[in-house]
Amino acid sequence: MRVAVLALQGAFAEHRRALAEIGVDSFEVRNAADWRQPKDALILPGGESTVQLKLLHDLDLYESVRQDVAAGLPTLGTCAGLILLAREVEHESAARLGTMDIVVKRNAYGRQLGSFHTEADFQGLGRVPMTFIRAPYIERVGPGAEALATVGGHIVAARQGAQIVTAFHPELDSDRRIYHLLLDCCRGETE
Ligand code: GLN
Repeated sequence: MRVAVLALQGAFAEHRRALAEIGVDSFEVRNAADWRQPKDALILPGGESTVQLKLLHDLDLYESVRQDVAAGLPTLGTCAGLILLAREVEHESAARLGTMDIVVKRNAYGRQLGSFHTEADFQGLGRVPMTFIRAPYIERVGPGAEALATVGGHIVAARQGAQIVTAFHPELDSDRRIYHLLLDCCRGETE
């Protein structure tokens, strides 16, 4: 099992550390040659989605990543990664990877005071710790996607086929079950 971690900007090192903890090999994707390496799954880390999107285009990664995710490569998008996968982001028109049928609100909890930690039910997992940093939330999921967790009445995790997104940062807590969900997708064990 080998997981590609998009490493253009943001919290990619923390995801790699989390994968190493559970004995999963990973590598960093910074250019098209990296992307051509064999991989079983992809992680799109948190960070700044506008910067990441620009770099995806500038480094000629956008179209190949989009195609592979759309074709079913198991993918975990966290925070900014969730924003990149969304079909629509409120009040913004820039095209993203757009492979997931969700409508997202960016910086939904306010820009400065938007960081907090909580614990909430996650479908199939029970209580999961959740750390939010200037996080988005999912305004609504389309018929193709399914909500997996809500906090304060807002959807904070969803899934569509082998794509899983969280508005929170699983790499910052010690609970690794979200990563195991991604690995289950690689083994074809989608619920
Ligand atoms: N606010 C960031 C964005 O809109 C996301 C924050 C994060 O990834 N922690 O891209």
